[in-house]
Amino acid sequence: MAARINEHYLKLKSSYLFTEIARRVKAFQEAHPDARVIRLGIGDVTQPLPPAVIRALHEAVDEMARPETFRGYGPEPGYEFLAELIAAHDYGARGVRVATDEIFVSDGAKSDTGNIQEIFGTECVVALTDPVYPVYADSNVMAGRTGSVDTAGRYERLVYLPCTADNGFAPALPSRPVDLIYLCYPNNPTGAVLTRDALAAWVEYAHRHGAVLLYDAAYEAYIREPHIPHSIYEIEGARDVAIEFRSFSKTAGFTGTRCAFTVVPKEVQGRAADGTPVSLNPLWLRRQSTKFNGVPYIIQRGAAAIYTDDGRKQVRGLIDYYMENARIIREGLEAAGLRVYGGVNAPYIWLKTPPGLGSWDFFDVLLRDAHVVGTPGSGFGPSGEGYFRLTAFGRREQTEEAVSRIKTRLAL
Ligand code: PLP
Repeated sequence: MAARINEHYLKLKSSYLFTEIARRVKAFQEAHPDARVIRLGIGDVTQPLPPAVIRALHEAVDEMARPETFRGYGPEPGYEFLAELIAAHDYGARGVRVATDEIFVSDGAKSDTGNIQEIFGTECVVALTDPVYPVYADSNVMAGRTGSVDTAGRYERLVYLPCTADNGFAPALPSRPVDLIYLCYPNNPTGAVLTRDALAAWVEYAHRHGAVLLYDAAYEAYIREPHIPHSIYEIEGARDVAIEFRSFSKTAGFTGTRCAFTVVPKEVQGRAADGTPVSLNPLWLRRQSTKFNGVPYIIQRGAAAIYTDDGRKQVRGLIDYYMENARIIREGLEAAGLRVYGGVNAPYIWLKTPPGLGSWDFFDVLLRDAHVVGTPGSGFGPSGEGYFRLTAFGRREQTEEAVSRIKTRLAL
C-alpha cells in the first residue's frame, strides 16, 4: 500500500498570481535592463522594528544567558505578561472586556486564520468575501470543505460574498444559511472598513443562524476615522459569536519576527452532532497545546515593549509613515484621473482600472509606462477583476517616485 495523499490538496489553485507577476517583471527587466522598477505590490513592511522593541529583545536574549532567568518551553497560549497588556491596551482601553485566558498568542494571523477551521466539522458551510485574503479559502480546501473548483476559480461549496464599488465593498448577508463567515476589516485587498451598523448586522446574522464569525483585524491599527470599530467585540452580542485575529506584523514591523494573537471568548460556541452546545475556547486551547509550541519568550518580550510609552509612540510613528504613503498614492492616482478606494483606514489602495483595461492589462500598462509593479485585483478572486492593488508599505522616496511616474507617464 502506497501512502495515500490528502487529495484535497490537488484541488488548490496554483499560486498563479505571484508567479505570474514575477514572470512578467523578469521579462520586462530583461528587455529593459536600465529601467528602475519600483514594487508597490508588496504586502511586507519596509521600516525596521521600533527601538523600544529592539531594546526589549536584547534584554530578553541576556536573560536567556543566565541560569536564574533562562526560559525553556513556555505556556502554549502565551505568557501572562503579554496577554495582560493585550487585554488592557487593545481591549480595555476601548471599553471591551477580554480575559487573559481568552487570548492566544501565536506566530501569526496567517497560521491562526488558516488553522481555526480545524475545530469545526467538515460539513460546515463557509462564506467568504470576494476578493479575499487567500488563506481562508485554501485552508478550507485542504480540509475538504469546499468541493471542486470551476474554470472561473470558484469552489462549489464555498459561498462567495462579492465586494465591489457597487456595494461600497461591504458584503451583503448570505442568501442561504452558512456556518462560518470570514470577515477582514480593515480589508486586504480593498482597504475598505465596515461601520458599526454593518458589523452589527453580521453579529445579528450569526446569532440567528448559529454561525461563527471569524474576524480578521490584522490591520486594525490603521483605522483613522473615530467612528469605525477596531474590534468586533465593540458590537453588542459579538462575544457569543465571534473569534478575532490580530497581528503585530503590520502594526509594529513583526513580519519577520512573528507574533500575533487570537481571541476566543468563553461564550462563543459551536454544536456537537447531537446539537449540544460546545464552547470553542477549550477546543482552541487543546488544538494549540497539541500542535503549537508557543511563541519564543524573547519575541513575546519584544511584543510587550510595544505597549510601553516609548513603544506606543514609535508604533504610532510607523503607522503614520505608512499612512502618509497611502495618502500620497491615493491623491496622486486621483490626480492622474484614476478612481481610487481604500487608503484612508488601511494601508491598501484599491483602484478601478480604466474602461477597457482588465486587471492584468493595467498591470502591463503600469509596468511598461511607469515601471511600477502592483497586484492585479483578479488575483484575489473573480470580483477583483477590473481592480488593482497598491500598498503603502514601501519606502517614502520610492512611493513618491512611483506616484510621480504614474502621474506623468501613464498613457491611459
Ligand atoms: N490577515 C490578513 C488579511 C493579511 O493580509 C495578512 C498578511 O498579509 C495576514 C493575516 C497575516 O498576518 P501575519 O503576518 O500575522 O501572519
